[in-house]
Amino acid sequence: MQIQYLKGIGPAKAKLFDRLEINTVEDLLHYYPRTYQDRRLGMPPSEYNHPALVIFKGRVLRTQTIPAHSVLIFKAFLENEKGEQIECTWFKKRMYRGFRFDPFGTLKKDFTLHNEVWVIGKREHKNNFFDNKITVDEYYVAADPLAQLHTGRLTPIYALTEGLTNKQFRQFIYEALQTPALMAEPEILPPSLLQKRKLLNAPQALKAVHFPHSPAELETARQRLAYEEFLLLATAWGIKRTQTKILSKDYSYEIKKNLLTPFRQQLGFEFTGSQKKVINEIFNDLTSPRPMNRLLQGDVGSGKTVVALCAMLLAVENGYQAALMAPTEILAEQHFLTFKRMLEGLNVRVAVLTSSTKAAAKKKILKELADGTLHILVGTHSVIQNDVQFHNLRLAVIDEQHRFGVKQRSKLKEKTAKLDLLTMTATPIPRTLALAFYGDLDVSTLQELPPGRQPIQTETATSRLAYDRVRMEVQKGRQAYIVFPLIEESEKISAKAVTEEFEKLKKVFPEFKLGILHGQMSQTEKEETMARFAVHQIDILVATPVIEVGIDVKNATVMVIENAERFGLASLHQLRGRVGRGEHESYCILVPQHAGSVAKERVDIICATRDGFKIGERDMQLRGPGEILGTRQSGELEFKAGDIFSDRDILYKAIEDRDELLAQDPQLLAPEHLLFKRKLQELYQQNWHLIDLS
Ligand code: ADP
Ligand code: MG
Repeated sequence: MQIQYLKGIGPAKAKLFDRLEINTVEDLLHYYPRTYQDRRLGMPPSEYNHPALVIFKGRVLRTQTIPAHSVLIFKAFLENEKGEQIECTWFKKRMYRGFRFDPFGTLKKDFTLHNEVWVIGKREHKNNFFDNKITVDEYYVAADPLAQLHTGRLTPIYALTEGLTNKQFRQFIYEALQTPALMAEPEILPPSLLQKRKLLNAPQALKAVHFPHSPAELETARQRLAYEEFLLLATAWGIKRTQTKILSKDYSYEIKKNLLTPFRQQLGFEFTGSQKKVINEIFNDLTSPRPMNRLLQGDVGSGKTVVALCAMLLAVENGYQAALMAPTEILAEQHFLTFKRMLEGLNVRVAVLTSSTKAAAKKKILKELADGTLHILVGTHSVIQNDVQFHNLRLAVIDEQHRFGVKQRSKLKEKTAKLDLLTMTATPIPRTLALAFYGDLDVSTLQELPPGRQPIQTETATSRLAYDRVRMEVQKGRQAYIVFPLIEESEKISAKAVTEEFEKLKKVFPEFKLGILHGQMSQTEKEETMARFAVHQIDILVATPVIEVGIDVKNATVMVIENAERFGLASLHQLRGRVGRGEHESYCILVPQHAGSVAKERVDIICATRDGFKIGERDMQLRGPGEILGTRQSGELEFKAGDIFSDRDILYKAIEDRDELLAQDPQLLAPEHLLFKRKLQELYQQNWHLIDLS
């Protein structure tokens, strides 16, 4: 049922709901509260609540209107159940809208003498407890039957959009719970599983998640909903696994080595044992009849790029095309330059395509892609735009895949469904979890770093000491990065801030050549700066975190991170990975400003730990996986009720049940699985382009 047919929601309100991606009453019911406030009477302030939050039911003793200079004040004096007097105050700006308009009309009506009213508000800050003065957030006339939705209970608080209030939201949810839509809300979980796991049924769970009677009931409801989410996704992946297993490619590879051998000979280094093993795994996938879907995880600097290049060369040897996608233009450019350098003298044609490629150049690239003259295309997500047609693309590589947005990723999946796919990341999810969950995803791991790497000395210091180190290194002929954090997620303000710092730093280091790099610069400017840094025309690069991923300049040996407490663990680790890439001893110096305890913990962890996998796990513990695996990194693992980390038990149960379910009924044909299958199909249409459940 469309949302605008719900009582109280017209086309205008429906638009607001649309912003929250709520289109139907079912969507609304599945829009779970962001949090809850404990508004039960007599409950001590609990973990749910703001410390100064007050909730009471009182009888009106008297009211008073006070005209002041620019505001009008309305006061109501109430007596609560304990016989205490409480003063509630409202302010209104004076408005000269004619004297008939009374801004306190409704308040006066609701606060008539002896009336019983629920009040939720905050104790006034400057007054102590005994003053009993309260700034009112919400109030409800006790005689109003709807008051019980908002007060005297665990009260749901929703993530809103402008134009909607929590009060309205709760009432709409309540309406929705009254509509037949809920009663018709089919129980999608098979009855056997409901019984086995002793779960609430769907209407019970939905009622309880919005209007729980107790924390215990809420938790039972949440578990049921989390289980459902996990089971749905796990089953979708399970089905996909069986489908890809039977899928076969209509092309095949042969390891000819007419490119691979000369490539290895001119590379200038030997592959590490880890790289050899992983290249073998990838070649096995490529030469096997079913499409590859492999995740290559390896710490920062472990040498993933050259592994990917080997895979692409195998494609080229076989007369196919390959593409590599990177999350940023700088990184795409850099990969392109690396490939050009590594492939010098070999008959392999490489091009780079980003959104700032000039029209004429783009036209040429598109033509050569279509007629097969180009072998390898490197780029950003421009590579998957509709106007890009390949002659015979067979292999897609996605670098730093967690950096791609959810939308781009689903588009990538659509485009690459029938290809061999290699995704690479330095921010792994725990391996067992990945395997259990995805099932169909093969995982390779680069365990060791290339030899001869000097461990990077990581320490905290003041700016002054950090700059001393920079000066020492640059005098020795090395180069340095000085990085400033993004400010309030705004590239523009950050660019301004970093430009100011740049001017200051020019005075600190008058004897050296400084360069600046930030997200507001044009692509050409960025490229030029990176190129000048790469050939050592710049000694010190002052930058925002745009340089975080992938940048590879071996002569750079110092990374100074200003305001280090503002960076997450993964970012700190990635930034540190920009140095220590050559044979010189390298330094990463964190300059914290005001470190809170979590910030300090992060800085300590980075100083003490080199292993990116361990850092990843600690990061997850510190921040919770929601933020790490949520919208920002992994669209597939974004859950509304569940949390793959703290609900691990439920997750493993769901995976176990999925395996049993699919063993019994691989195509979900049994009548008791019908609704579950239908739900999967519905979700598949919305999100999972890759999963064919027809
Ligand atoms: P990441 O895994 O972080 O993407 P890169 O692929 O950028 O790492 O590799 C880091 C650096 O190490 C590059 O300069 C690359 O050429 C170099 N490298 C890769 N493999 C080896 C190796 N086996 N021996 C020496 N250097 C290597
Ligand atoms: Mg890389």
